[in-house]
Amino acid sequence: MNEHFLLFDVGGTDIKAGLADSNGEILQVLREPTRKVAPEDSAEVLVSQLQQLGTRLQDRAGAAAASAGLIVCGLVDADEGIGIFSANLGWRNAPLKAMTSTALGLPVGFGHDVSLAARAELELGSGAKDEALRHNAVVMIIGTGIATALMVDGRLISAGGYAGELGHSQVPGGFECPCGATGCLETVGSAGAIAKRYFDKTGLKVGAKEVFAARAAGDEFAASIINDAVEALTFTMAQLCSSVAPEGIVLGGGLAQAGPEFFAELEQSLECRLSFHRRPRLISAHLGADAGLQGALILAREASGVQAGQAS
Ligand SMILES: [Zn+2]
Repeated sequence: MNEHFLLFDVGGTDIKAGLADSNGEILQVLREPTRKVAPEDSAEVLVSQLQQLGTRLQDRAGAAAASAGLIVCGLVDADEGIGIFSANLGWRNAPLKAMTSTALGLPVGFGHDVSLAARAELELGSGAKDEALRHNAVVMIIGTGIATALMVDGRLISAGGYAGELGHSQVPGGFECPCGATGCLETVGSAGAIAKRYFDKTGLKVGAKEVFAARAAGDEFAASIINDAVEALTFTMAQLCSSVAPEGIVLGGGLAQAGPEFFAELEQSLECRLSFHRRPRLISAHLGADAGLQGALILAREASGVQAGQAS
C-alpha cells in the first residue's frame, strides 16, 4: 500500500514541512519562517501553521497522509508528547503532540529535533552499515551552537528531555553564555564562537569557513581561535569517552565541513587526553540538512496505525 506521511521539522527560525511516500522518498518540501507571537499563544499558532502546511502539501500531491512526524527544537519530553520549553518560540509545557494530532486528524509521532536527526543519521546515514556505531555513538552538530545526542547501548538518552546538552557543559577557557552560565563549550568550540571571536578582535564579519581560510593564509589570531575550539571540543569528547565510551563521534553542522585537517587535529588532541579509554572514530555526518525530516519520517512511520489523538 502506498501510504503518505507528513513531516514537520520546527526550528527557532523556520519550519520545514515535507510529504514522503511509503518508499521513504520525500516528495515535496515547504519551508517558511516560524511565526513569532506572544509566548502564551506560541503553541496554538504553531499548530495552526502546521495544519496549513499539511493541507498545502496534501493538496499539491493529491494524496492523504496516513500519519505525521513532528520534531521540535528546545527541551522536549517525547514520551509525554510535550514541548517543555523553547527559548526561541516561547512555549512552556505545551502538549504539542496531542494538539497537532487533533488539528491534523492524524496519529502523530513526536520528538526532539536533534535526537531524531541523530537517529536518522545513525539508522540511515553513517550508522546504516555499522552496527557498533548504531549502538554506541555521540552525534554532535556544531553550528551556531552545539547540539548533541547520546546513543548508549542502542538507546537514545533523553532523561525527560534534559540529556545531551553538551553545548552547555563547562570547558576551560569558556566565556559567558547566553544561557546564563559561564564557560559553556559552545562559547569556544562552535562555528558561531569562532566567527564571533574573530569579529570581536578584527571587526570582520565572516563565517568560521573564512577564519579557517585566514589561518591557512598565516593569520595567527585565526589559528589561536581554532586551536581553542579544538581543545574545548576534545575536552568534552574525552569526558564522553570516560562516561559513555562511544564507538564513534559523528560530527555534523558547519564545522564538520572544515575538512580532514580539522578532523586530524581533533584526533591528535583527543588522543593526548586518553589512556585506557576506547578510542572513538571521528566521523563526518552523511545526512545533510534533511536529517531532521528523515527523523520525522521515522516517527511518522512508527505512528502510522495509531489512532488520531491517542497519547502514544
Ligand atoms: Zn550555555
